[in-house]
Amino acid sequence: MGCAVFVLIAPESEPPVLLREFIASLRLAFALVCVGVSLILGGQWLGLIPDADQIKSQGRQSLCESIAINASAHVRHQQWVDLTTILRTQVDRNEDLLSIGLRSDMGTLRLDTGHHAEMWTTESAPEPRVEVVHVPITLNRRLWGNVEFCFQRPEQSALTPLTEHSIYRLVGFFVIAGLASYTLFVARIMGVFSKTQVVPDRVRQALDTLAEGLLVLDEKGRIVLANRAFAETVGMASEDLAFKTASELAWSSLEANETDPTYPWMNAIEDGQLQSEQMLRYRLSDGRSRIFSVNAAPLGGEDQHRGALATFRDVTHVEEHREELEKMLGMLRSSRDEIERKNGELEILATQDALTGCLNRRAFFERFDKLWNQSKADHTPLACVMIDNDHFKNVNDTYGHHIGDEVLRRVSKTIREMHENHGLVCRYGGEEFCVVLPGLSLRQALAEAERTRAAIAGITFEDPKELRLTASLGVSEMRFDAADTQELINQADACLYVAKREGRNRVISYNVNMANVTEETEKEEKEKKTKRLEISYQAVTALMSALSYRDAKTAEHSRRVADLCARVAANQFDPAKIYLLEIAALLHDIGKIGVPDNILLKPGALTEQEWEVMDRHDRIGVEIVTGAFDCTELTNIIATHQKLGRKRTADVSDMPTDEYTLWCAKILTIADSYDAMFSDTVYRRGRSHAEAIAELRRCAGTQFDADLVERFTAVIDERAPLVASGAFALGKQAAIQIGLDVERLAEAVEKQDLEGLKLHVECLAKTANSVGVDSIVRVANQIQSFACSEEMQWKALLSETHELLDVARAAQSDFLRESLELENHISFTE
Ligand code: GH3
Ligand code: MG
Ligand code: MG
Repeated sequence: MGCAVFVLIAPESEPPVLLREFIASLRLAFALVCVGVSLILGGQWLGLIPDADQIKSQGRQSLCESIAINASAHVRHQQWVDLTTILRTQVDRNEDLLSIGLRSDMGTLRLDTGHHAEMWTTESAPEPRVEVVHVPITLNRRLWGNVEFCFQRPEQSALTPLTEHSIYRLVGFFVIAGLASYTLFVARIMGVFSKTQVVPDRVRQALDTLAEGLLVLDEKGRIVLANRAFAETVGMASEDLAFKTASELAWSSLEANETDPTYPWMNAIEDGQLQSEQMLRYRLSDGRSRIFSVNAAPLGGEDQHRGALATFRDVTHVEEHREELEKMLGMLRSSRDEIERKNGELEILATQDALTGCLNRRAFFERFDKLWNQSKADHTPLACVMIDNDHFKNVNDTYGHHIGDEVLRRVSKTIREMHENHGLVCRYGGEEFCVVLPGLSLRQALAEAERTRAAIAGITFEDPKELRLTASLGVSEMRFDAADTQELINQADACLYVAKREGRNRVISYNVNMANVTEETEKEEKEKKTKRLEISYQAVTALMSALSYRDAKTAEHSRRVADLCARVAANQFDPAKIYLLEIAALLHDIGKIGVPDNILLKPGALTEQEWEVMDRHDRIGVEIVTGAFDCTELTNIIATHQKLGRKRTADVSDMPTDEYTLWCAKILTIADSYDAMFSDTVYRRGRSHAEAIAELRRCAGTQFDADLVERFTAVIDERAPLVASGAFALGKQAAIQIGLDVERLAEAVEKQDLEGLKLHVECLAKTANSVGVDSIVRVANQIQSFACSEEMQWKALLSETHELLDVARAAQSDFLRESLELENHISFTE
């Protein structure tokens, strides 16, 4: 490349290109003219060129001679008149001949053509403009006299010798015309010549050895030289490329929509700036195309650009690879976005109450705990409002459950629209809602509660038109020193109780005296609530996370059992007791955290010893619950449930527990067995709903309480056909977890973060494996082996990840569809 630059760049002080070329041509033309002139003069010297003056004087000489011969004949015969006529005729016919005289030997002018004497004054001093010639005449061998001729002499000047002399004229003409024509001719030849020979062969050969394509271009962007690599890649001969305008070759832009690409070499020539790494596509004659990364450097000085040097790196392969990767990444991104969106939907499903769209209690407590801690840390207020519909039982009794549900939907919608944006709205019990308002003082919260009361009172229905609603509300705030979230709720609940007692449809605010009042007047209520204080929902969440991590399938099972229990217990106990049962159900298998994999995941029946390990860990579970919550009722429910399981009998005569605990333990055992039978496990597919129910009924009266089996069957019967489709068994939490893992995995692939990828794919495989989604496990394992292989290729990984995303998306869609159908179904049939 350096050589080429050297060839083309001249020192900056030189004259402009055109003038320089003209001077060179002129010089050459001058040399040629000099040679020509020497040749002419040589020819002249050798006598090869006739002398026009000599010819002329010879002509005159012979004219004079012939006139003299004629004259001598007339003189001999004394024919003077005739002679005069002849001489006059001669003078008239010859322009140069001015006069002729006939002079005797004696010096007498015997005859003349007129004015001869004046012009011929003396022979020695003739008129300056007259040239004289005389020819002697002899008679009888004696000189008689002379015939004198006066010729016109040409005008004389300093240049006369040059202009008059024919050789000089010839040389002069040759010099002038030769210079002009030679200069033009040479310039033209040089123009062509300079283009073919501007790069010496030596340099040309050197450039041909380069692997990169290279073009040397003149100031108009015409190709002066194309090296072999360039010619080969574009499939043309170097000679065919010469003198072509580089921009007129089959270039196009990489962007499909851009028709006219900008050419880096033209920019380099016009702006004098180095152009680097610009992409251009070249369409070959066979329709294929190649992609080049083009660099272009201007040739010439600051203000005069003589051309450019452009190099072409063939990046077709890299570009195509990149384009393909980009396309796949784009698809990956959109898949991931969809998964993210679906995860969002799943998360909502997992946190919402199906009928009202409010937060369910679990999600509510999780968030309430966070807000509580935040408010404590920031010293900002936090208010809690309990809302209970008045005489709701009457609505059900008068219009039926269907309308009752519709009423709950309308009431919850009203509450959510007012408070959801800045607070938490939870369906706390059947027709009871709890609203948490962070940042609101007691006064502000009271105003909000009053607004809510009025809004509920303002709800009307198309049918039944006469139906009007009222609600009672209790409001409390953190400043009354509640120990935790539950106590704050209890304070609001106490106010709600007062509101009911004082006539309903009103808002009652908490005050310090109320603590005593409630203690005295509502001893039973207080007792119930104090117990509930012992359970921290945060601790429940933490334990469930630990169980999920150890074995996601068991955690899912526990969540489903908790749901089943809560449904069967609805309307049977107050919300606090139902909540306690739910927690017991959630934690009934917590001891499995410590069971080794070979037993926990064992395909097939357990041996006696293995059952012992299981039982031991169940007891450890009871200890964990006791240690974490110190809540006798909770511990009792779980312990009793375990005893029932171990004894495999409904006989509880030796169990000294109260009716509530016993009821909970029994229903927990039924729900636990039902879910175990219904769900797929590691080693067998789950039974159908009907089969599971039939089995429950078969063991009713022995292993299970017969009445409770019927109650259980009645409550969950409706959901069975949908549950049986299988997706429900996956569980919301597992579906979300898989979605999250896939999301992170896709992100790692996008960032080409191999370590992250390995980590997330492992997590995913584990989650999918523990909940038995084989399609995901298979692809995840495939990705894992790709990621760990020696010749790891992102492209292969990308396409596998794509497949994974497809599978995950399909699983999510199924799950979402089925659980939505299920929940809609349940909400209308309960
Ligand atoms: P009070 O003014 O004292 O609150 O009277 P109430 O009738 O509203 O209170 P009570 O607690 O005696 O009855 C609540 C009723 O709410 C009982 C139950 O049938 C009804 N309920 C609870 N959950 C649902 C539900 O999801 N759908 C329908 N339709 N009714 C429900
Ligand atoms: Mg009520
Ligand atoms: Mg109520």
